[in-house]
Amino acid sequence: MLRFKDVSVVYEDGEEPALDSLSLSVEKGEFVCVLGRSGAGKSTFIRTINGLQPLTAGNVNVLGYDVRLLAEKKLRALRSEVGMIFQHFHLIPRMSVRQNVYTGRFGQKPPWKNFLGIYTAEERKLADYYMEEVGLLPYAERRVERLSGGQKQRVGIARAMVQDPSILLGDEPVASLDPTTSDHIFQLLRQLHEERNLTTVINVHDVGLAKKYASRIIGLKNGRLVYDGSPIDMSEND
Ligand code: ADP
Ligand code: ADP
Repeated sequence: MLRFKDVSVVYEDGEEPALDSLSLSVEKGEFVCVLGRSGAGKSTFIRTINGLQPLTAGNVNVLGYDVRLLAEKKLRALRSEVGMIFQHFHLIPRMSVRQNVYTGRFGQKPPWKNFLGIYTAEERKLADYYMEEVGLLPYAERRVERLSGGQKQRVGIARAMVQDPSILLGDEPVASLDPTTSDHIFQLLRQLHEERNLTTVINVHDVGLAKKYASRIIGLKNGRLVYDGSPIDMSEND
């Protein structure tokens, strides 16, 4: 599903590598939490997976694609199979929940079509299905800036899911949410994962959440792998 081989990323102005000879694989159906302090390389790790982040060395293979060698067109094909959720949600302001969810799958439509809400019955059904799943169908026509943080992230999740992704990635999706809301978001992510055997890889800095929900924890420190295993085997010192 996902294979990192000796992957290093050094930023132009960076002194230490953000990722340092990282090698690991993720198989289909895993629910991985990536743990580490701020600056450990978690965000860089996630961004290499959908080709957002150029590599300094090594290679990353995602769903059989060698990310490093992909031309723009293939990169788009890869990204359509990789759903992504973000710390700050990246929703489109002044648009409704429904319109934001549509952009996940139908982002290629001319913006005016999205704006006017020109969608087929099938597209509407799919968006409804995922808005229902994340609990936001009653708010479908509400503008996203009127939602709470947790609701905004639910929109982000529905938008990622309408793509029908093979992998769901999260870059600190709960870092700006309170603990109870964070737990609810993780419950939802776990549910989506279990219903579809969806491969899920999520950055989190809260050890408690990772231990509660992950089937596997990857620990990063200074861009290096310092832990890789089950949450149960992880000691306080890891
Ligand atoms: P994390 O997500 O664990 O906080 P990051 O992947 O964001 O870690 O960062 C890893 C290291 O790379 C940090 O030292 C950070 O300051 C540095 N870094 C991240 N992005 C950039 C960038 N665009 N340019 C230069 N340095 C960066
Ligand atoms: P967010 O809160 O949205 O996750 P971050 O504060 O982690 O944002 O980073 C914002 C942007 O700044 C990212 O694109 C990241 O790559 C970049 N960045 C992070 N650390 C550095 C750094 N040391 N030098 C330059 N850019 C950085």
